[in-house]
Amino acid sequence: MATVKFYGNEPVPLEMHKVRIVQKLNLPPVERRLEKMTEAGNNTFLLRNDDIFLDMLTDSGVNAMSDRQQAAMMVADDSYAGSATYSRLEHQLRDIFGMHYFLPTHQGRACEHILAKVLVSPGKAVPMNYHFTTTKAHITLQGGVVEELVSDAGLEVVSVNPFKGNMDIGKLRATIEKYGPEGIAFVRMESGTNLIGGQPFSLQNLADVSNVCKENGIPLVLDASLLADNLYFNKTREEHCKSLSIREITRRTADLCDVIYFSARKLGCARGGGICVRDQALFEKMRPLVPLYEGFLTYGGMSVREMEALAVGLEETMDEEMINQGPQFIAYMVDQLQERGVPVITPAGGLGCHVDAGRFIDHIPQAQYPAGALAAALYIASGIRGMERGTLSEQREPDGREIFANMELVRLAMPRRVFTLSQVKYAVDRLAWLYDNRKLIGGLQFIEEPEVLRFFYGRLKPVSDWQNKLVAKFREDFGDSL
Ligand SMILES: *Cc1c(COP(=O)(O)O)cnc(C)c1O
Repeated sequence: MATVKFYGNEPVPLEMHKVRIVQKLNLPPVERRLEKMTEAGNNTFLLRNDDIFLDMLTDSGVNAMSDRQQAAMMVADDSYAGSATYSRLEHQLRDIFGMHYFLPTHQGRACEHILAKVLVSPGKAVPMNYHFTTTKAHITLQGGVVEELVSDAGLEVVSVNPFKGNMDIGKLRATIEKYGPEGIAFVRMESGTNLIGGQPFSLQNLADVSNVCKENGIPLVLDASLLADNLYFNKTREEHCKSLSIREITRRTADLCDVIYFSARKLGCARGGGICVRDQALFEKMRPLVPLYEGFLTYGGMSVREMEALAVGLEETMDEEMINQGPQFIAYMVDQLQERGVPVITPAGGLGCHVDAGRFIDHIPQAQYPAGALAAALYIASGIRGMERGTLSEQREPDGREIFANMELVRLAMPRRVFTLSQVKYAVDRLAWLYDNRKLIGGLQFIEEPEVLRFFYGRLKPVSDWQNKLVAKFREDFGDSL
């Protein structure tokens, strides 16, 4: 996106790329969408891609690659050990982050597995701004305890705080006091904090966290999976970063950390992942786990083509015009929805647009999964697939009681450079229609409920015939439109 001024018209985010490969999309008629949603048990994870118009389920592994990334994949050096491709990737990472050692992995959670195995032992705490699902699982699997220390502002749904991902320094000091520095495995900061709506931390906050870590001799680990968004928000929202280049902000960020790991399904618009390490001794402790769980040290489970695409994607991440497309499209979508009164998480973050189903349909009790119901209703109304992030994504207590989520959200992820602005406008239009007809939306109940990860495999049905009424209203308002 360029900062181009518009004459007269309403300003819109302007893409600084052109699209040279396209994929045809289907938009089945509304009656068929209802059929498909019923077949999928009202669970968007169980829809088939052929039946989906805009897939906003996730930003993982679905970002568009550049022509340079595609070209790099053609010159990959396909050897088991010691490939030139690996050297290029290692060189790129050293250049960007300034850390000498690198361990490749097959994706982000594999980095968490290795870090937890080496650094976490029973009873040790890992303070972090906010957890991510796979991070927490690997830490608790090693007997560790996750301490979530995000600033109170981080959990306010509606806010103007530009850095809702900041860690509360007072809480960090108190946590270190509680466990003692030797009781802390490491401190983890997550950039573009995923589960609270892709919200960034400030470079200043990272510096404050880093100081406390240094005072206490505790390693600071950065989850850089969503670093591109965080860098963009540092540059645009933090006064002292405005004069710095993205590359400079990246290096200042890295200089404050001891370890940086990432999912290359997000960072670098490729696939795979990796861990960058400053300290040789720590590197040597982690190294044996790579051939054991991932693959030999010069590929770690990634294909050489992925590694080539990643090396170029990392370089392109240092270009503000490449990384601002996601956040600017999301900001546009959030603004438009707010104008139409649709409740969303603010300020706009990275990753996607988060619709607040709790306020959207406040007549549905949490026990009837309002976020799940809204995700189903949105697919029926538009062919758009979002992801439920509410009570459905929780797990029941061992005695069968429901755990109600803090927030009932429908996440509409914005894969980078994949959708056009007219498609975003369509999403806004259908959401606004649904909002005006929200009283028609009803709850869901399980017909098949798996004990673990029920949000992936579970099947539900509407508690009444509200979905038929929604389709009838759609036909009334839109005539024979798709
Ligand atoms: C996606 C993600 C991960 C896990 O990465 P995978 O490649 O999906 O295993 C870890 N942390 C954050 C913040 C993520 O967004």
